[in-house]
Formats: sequence, structure tokens, C-alpha cells
Amino acid sequence: MTTEIAPTVEAINPELVTAGVPTHWYNLAADLPEPIPPHLHPGTKEPVGPDDLAPLFPAGLIAQEVTPERYIEIPEPVREIYQMWRPSPLFRARKFEQALNTKARIYVKYEGVSPVGSHKTNSAVAQAYYNSVDGVTKLTTETGAGQWGSALSFAGAQFGIDVEVWQVRASYDSKPYRGYLMKTYGGTVHPSPSDLTESGRAMLAKDPHTTGSLGMAVSEAVEVAANDPDARYALGSVLNHVVLHQSVIGQEAVAQLNAVEADGADVVFGCAGGGSNLAGLSFPFLREKLAGRSNPRIVAAEPSACPSITQGEYRYDHGDVAGLTPLLKMHTLGMDFVPDPIHAGGLRYHGMAPALSHTVELGLVEGQAISQHDAFAAGVTFARTQGIVPAPESTHAIAACAAYVADSDREEVVVIGLSGHGQLDLPAYAEYLDGGF
Ligand SMILES: *Cc1c(COP(=O)(O)O)cnc(C)c1O
Repeated sequence: MTTEIAPTVEAINPELVTAGVPTHWYNLAADLPEPIPPHLHPGTKEPVGPDDLAPLFPAGLIAQEVTPERYIEIPEPVREIYQMWRPSPLFRARKFEQALNTKARIYVKYEGVSPVGSHKTNSAVAQAYYNSVDGVTKLTTETGAGQWGSALSFAGAQFGIDVEVWQVRASYDSKPYRGYLMKTYGGTVHPSPSDLTESGRAMLAKDPHTTGSLGMAVSEAVEVAANDPDARYALGSVLNHVVLHQSVIGQEAVAQLNAVEADGADVVFGCAGGGSNLAGLSFPFLREKLAGRSNPRIVAAEPSACPSITQGEYRYDHGDVAGLTPLLKMHTLGMDFVPDPIHAGGLRYHGMAPALSHTVELGLVEGQAISQHDAFAAGVTFARTQGIVPAPESTHAIAACAAYVADSDREEVVVIGLSGHGQLDLPAYAEYLDGGF
């Protein structure tokens, strides 16, 4: 047998995990020695209050942004939708181990089984739910490669909400299929910058040929939501409530791994764009570490073209280019930074989740920059051994893991967060295989 599917979730705490899908989201903030720095109002520079965020977000999500609670119950309608694909599988990647000539035991937590093929649905469904509770009829958002736009379009369809998406121009042009997916779910998609918003027109005036960035697309989506009383904005990463929703990944992974590895994980690798899938995977492992039950290292693999953790500054910065969002304390390359148009569109963000940045500052998470070439080389090896074509974003985590365990005699337990599949990113693989980069 070459692939072992770990048993489905076994409860660590039977009250929190039943029937395989977590009943609660886990909030690492409750267990950290120091609080995550608050978001600041862009005008007053005071911590933002619920009233400041109300034009953008529904009450349920605003509460989650600042909650000190350790566990927050997942509403039943959200849990029911999670059950379409959760718990996601954790499997041992034996053929990949053999290809790397390593004694490490590599486990992969695979989020590509969700309807749109990535972890993004975990938060999209929750966000659409809380917006529907507040009577919101339209959600605006940005997207890079299109994973978040398609996840939110799916979630909008589940709760009867219209979804309007600004997609980074570089990806809109090179990756049309996720745009078709958004439309299939009933969403609308525009290339960003667009001439539909004031911030978009200003950016086009500055550089008519810009390839766009996630920060620009955020400005456009925020502007439209802020000017429409029935609309709210949804962010696919970075904010505390998104990180919270993604904790289902790590809670399942910890339980699944404990069923086959008594000492838990030694190293956890994930890719980091805005930081949500890695935080979602690793924070429950950090819960175990802070409780003294295991001692894993956590590695955030980021693209060398957009290295916010390894090269950025840790300071307050805006989440967008127009300066409309609250100031977030994070590792940032600066809100004006426009990364080269790499294929891992979901990793082209200038900042990093404040929650993840904070754990980096506390020495609980370390960053590692990976070149696009090395990332795809590892992705191809993974595809040829395990069959799954990884999302270009996820290949960064695979490459970081491969470099660490290759030709090693250490019998370590390592976990890779495979945040999504790359079936709609095959043109990027074709370019790599043709020697394009
Ligand atoms: C969006 C995306 C990412 C990056 O976002 P994070 O918030 O860092 O998780 C990574 N992988 C995939 C497949 C994505 O769609």
C-alpha cells in the first residue's frame, strides 16, 4: 500500500470534535502570552471599534475580529455546508518520501477537496452566513488567481447573496477559468484596476498598463461596499476572523495525526500569501506546543517575488493601496508594492495576517522564501508521485518541505498544508515544463 488515509477525526476533546467536523473554531489569541496588536483607524490612529467596521462587515464577523474566546461555536448552517467536503483528508505521502530519499514521514493535509478546490471555502461560507444573518444582499471582494472569488461566489449561491469580484488583471488575463467558475456560481467578475471605481481610475491614470495587485483590487471592492448600504465587503485572508475560520484545517489535522503518530508533528510547512491557510493549519499545532504536548516548528513558505515575512518590515500598514482599510500591524513590503506577476497569484499580497505576523515575532513561526522555479519543480515531483497537481501557491510549501527532508536520515514527522489543487493552473505548469522559468 502506498497511501494511507489516516482515520477520520478522533476527538482530542470529545466536546469539540464530533462526527469528524469540528463544532468550534479555535482562536489561538486566547493562548498567546501577548495579545495580537489591534487594528487602528486610518484617521484617528486609535484602535478600531465595532462602529468603524460596521460599513464593511456584519456584526458576527466584527465580534470575531476581537474576540478573546478560545472556542467559538460554528453555526449549524455553516457546519452543514462544511460537511459537503469536511473533514478533509490527511494522508501519508509515501511515494513522495521515496522520491526524496528521506526517512522523514510526510503527511499531507489536503484542502483541494472543497467544491472550488482550495481552503478558501472554509471562510467564504462562514462570511456569507454572517452577512445573510444581517440581511446583506451583495458582497464585494478582490481575488488574485480566482480561488477566493470562486469560493465566495459558491458561498453567495448557498445563501442567496450577489457576489461582485475584482480580479487582479495579471490573473484575469492569464487564468480565465476561475472567472468562468465565478459566473457559473452566479458571481460577477471585473479585471482590476477597473474604471468602475474612483480608486481604480486613479490607479489606471498613474499606470494604464499595470498588471494590478491584490492591494489595488481590495481598494476597489472596499470602495463599492462602503458606498452601498446593502453591500458589505469580504476579505479572503489576513483578518483575524478569516484566520479563525481556517482553524478547522488544523484542528482536524492534529486529531488525524495523533491517531497515527503518538508524538505529533516535528515540522509543519504551509504556504503564506495573506497567511490564512498556514495560520489555520498551524495554530492548533501551536495550541499543542503551548500546552506542552508536542514541540513542532512551523515554517511559512513565501514566494521570493513577494517575501513579506523574510524581507518586509513589521509595522502598521494599510491592507490596500488606496488606504481605505484599517491599519494592520503586520509584516509588509509596503502598500504600494507591486510584485512581479508570478503564477501563484494567491501569494501576491504585500502584507501578512496580523495574527501570523505576531506569532513570527513571538518566535513561534519562521519564514522561508522559495523561488518560483523551485516551487514548480517540487510541484511536478509531487504530481508524478502522489497524483495530485498542487496549486502553484501550495507548491511553495512542498518545495520548502522537500528541501528540508531530502536525503535525510532523521525520522521526523512533517506535515504539509496542501492548500489547493492546480487543475485550473495547468498553463503555468505547461510554461514551467517548456523551460519558461
Ligand atoms: C489564496 C490561496 C493561498 C494564499 O492565501 P493564504 O491566506 O496565505 O492562505 C494559498 N493557497 C491557495 C490554494 C490559495 O487559493
